[in-house]
Amino acid sequence: MSVVAAALRNAATNGAEIRVRGRVQGVGFRPAVWRLATELGLCGEVINDADGVLIRIAGSDAEISRLIERLPGASPPLARIERIESRPVHVSPASAFHIGDSVVGRARTEIAPDAAICAECAREVIDPFERRYRYAFATCTHCGPRLSIAEAIPYDRALTTMAPFPLCDDCLAEYRDSADRRFHAEATACHACGPQPRLVRLDGGAISFDTFSQLDAVDAVATLLRRGHIVALKGLGGYQLVCDATNTEVVARLRQLKARASKPFALMARDLAVIERYCQPSPEEYAALTSTAAPIVLMRACGPERLPEAVAPGLGLIGFMLPTTPLHLLALRRLDRPVVMTSGNPADEPQIVDDAEALKRLAPIAEFALVHDRRIAARIDDSVVRVIGGVPRLIRRARGFAPAPITLPKGFGDAPDLLAMGGELKAAFCLLKDGKAILSQHQGDLEQGPAFADYERSLLHYRVLFDHAPVAVAVDRHPDYLSSKSGRADGLPVIEVSHHHAHVAACLSENGRPLDAAPVLGIALDGAGWGDDGTIWGGEFLLADYRSARRLGTFKPVALLGGAQAMREPWRNLYAHLRAEMSWAEMSLNFAELEIYRFLAEKPRPTLERMLETGTGAPLASSCGRLFDAVAAALDLCRERQGYEGEAAARLEAIVDASTLQDEDDSLAYPFAIPHLSGSGLAYIEPLGMWNALLGDLILDTPPGVIAARFHKGVARALTAMAIKLAARDGSGFDTVALSGGCFQNAVLLTETVRRLEDAGFGVLTHSLVPANDGGLALGQAAIAAATLVGESA
Ligand SMILES: [Zn+2]
Ligand SMILES: [Zn+2]
Repeated sequence: MSVVAAALRNAATNGAEIRVRGRVQGVGFRPAVWRLATELGLCGEVINDADGVLIRIAGSDAEISRLIERLPGASPPLARIERIESRPVHVSPASAFHIGDSVVGRARTEIAPDAAICAECAREVIDPFERRYRYAFATCTHCGPRLSIAEAIPYDRALTTMAPFPLCDDCLAEYRDSADRRFHAEATACHACGPQPRLVRLDGGAISFDTFSQLDAVDAVATLLRRGHIVALKGLGGYQLVCDATNTEVVARLRQLKARASKPFALMARDLAVIERYCQPSPEEYAALTSTAAPIVLMRACGPERLPEAVAPGLGLIGFMLPTTPLHLLALRRLDRPVVMTSGNPADEPQIVDDAEALKRLAPIAEFALVHDRRIAARIDDSVVRVIGGVPRLIRRARGFAPAPITLPKGFGDAPDLLAMGGELKAAFCLLKDGKAILSQHQGDLEQGPAFADYERSLLHYRVLFDHAPVAVAVDRHPDYLSSKSGRADGLPVIEVSHHHAHVAACLSENGRPLDAAPVLGIALDGAGWGDDGTIWGGEFLLADYRSARRLGTFKPVALLGGAQAMREPWRNLYAHLRAEMSWAEMSLNFAELEIYRFLAEKPRPTLERMLETGTGAPLASSCGRLFDAVAAALDLCRERQGYEGEAAARLEAIVDASTLQDEDDSLAYPFAIPHLSGSGLAYIEPLGMWNALLGDLILDTPPGVIAARFHKGVARALTAMAIKLAARDGSGFDTVALSGGCFQNAVLLTETVRRLEDAGFGVLTHSLVPANDGGLALGQAAIAAATLVGESA
């Protein structure tokens, strides 16, 4: 190369263009780059664009390498760098480093999840000398709303629900000051320029503020709660209903007015000291409570003080969260007790986000409402986490977690963009984009009309935010799920995915199992899902990878007496299970002295017997969930009717006697056999021995906690025995077991099963990032559909 050519090349490339991908917008990333570049004495600029952050910088190769090296360590708390790429370019001369304007374009970057108020903002809003003292919408680049206010990308104030609030001079100065925590914090606001809270009486009457002797409208909430009122509060992702959790009368009133029979209420406390009066959080539970996601954490109620039983009837578990926004922090500041903080909706509908609707529809429930004038762009419920075996596991994935992407394992990099529709209950959809799975926040139970409308709105919102153009749509094979119907009507090629295969694939993908890894034994235990043979499945052993699933074993198929009614009324499953093992005459002969015999004898037996005989209204289902219902009903736990899905099983788990579980000899665990179904020859779990032992224990007046422990141990032992039996078969050849399905939210069942499988030499995969229940289904659907398409194009 001639000297002239080399000089020309140097002139052409005097610097580099550095591309940073990941969660780098709306989290204070550009200021962090500015600080770093300024510290290193480099000139150039940093901008947000549709691909993330772009840095153009002048400097030698060594200077540029130093900047790239230090970038991860210098990035702000909410940022998550996925990839940094650099290429030599010519950079126009500049005398300093500056932050450029955003460029709109095809989006490939991330919208961050909402983050709980940070320590610095929390300190400011309680400091009378700060200008944001008691400001309910204080936020900075390290905390505050993101998904809940984002209407389009890039994440800039003009494209959020903060757009109607022009920054005042003071806020603008902070926004422009690269040394400030609020430099380019898009939701920056203060008393002078930002959203304002307002207290209203829902019966239309006027509010006399003198009667509260309070500081402001937010503080008045504390007085109202102390006085036993129910208050509707406009939270981050929707309206919430709040009352004093220590006041038995108001908790009962809230249950009655909200038509919520027994589903547990979530609690919020102003600080950890209040929580510690009711629970003893483990280190993992502390970490979850105080994380930026600040979810509801389910913990054992074992503190020195007790809450009214009506908070979480029959569970022995309570769900606490810390204040998530300055509004919550300020409203609870004077309260030395926990409050119920539940979704603002009548019955089981989605949480209300619209002000006019809230004022109208919550008026019969709450006497007052604390509202404000910032619109909610996305409805987002509070997330729920439970620590099992030292691992925090998401039970409901919503605020603080969605829409953070889950990177799919090795082999999925070339997968085309896809949409997966999820299930019916605890629905969530999933966008697959650039090899990443973006699972939506919890969307509720779609069989409720309003929830389905909301699901479709939310899907549209995500498609805009992620500029998503899928080539195919994955749906559950069920013919009647609203999500499946909606997916089939989309006009795209449809990939139908089996319910239980999707559960197993969700577990594989969140555990990073590569696309081409050997098949595992997937144990998918839940209430019900559409099986490959058109019958109802719910307790399945599948030899599965992402591409295929072969059913090797199952739970015993037992009639669902009354179809959907059997899901709601546990006693129906008790009747069907007992009758599957013995005739009524045998029951009369052997068990007539039992209370459950007399209870079942009073049911409309001729009708039930006709259903069993003809199969009309009594389809067979190999459901693990219904077996738990039947056992719970036998112990008179939630026998007539469940207030929510899984209540009977949750109550059964709650009474498990700890010493029986830990110390009693395994020979007393209830026995299950593993014979083969006539016809298909499929290995199945036969509960006859379990029922005989359980009924025997009832005759002996064995305490219910001991019975519950023996049952849980028996099921875990049967699952392990089945895995060992199937692994020994020719051609199955698995050494890993994946546990999925809603039944594995049961801490006793999960812990016992994992321990036994590991003792038997299996590797065990379980859920933590996505729910084991149907909330994780869409991730599995997306992975299976992607595996199919990657295979086709290869
Ligand atoms: Zn902050
Ligand atoms: Zn301001």
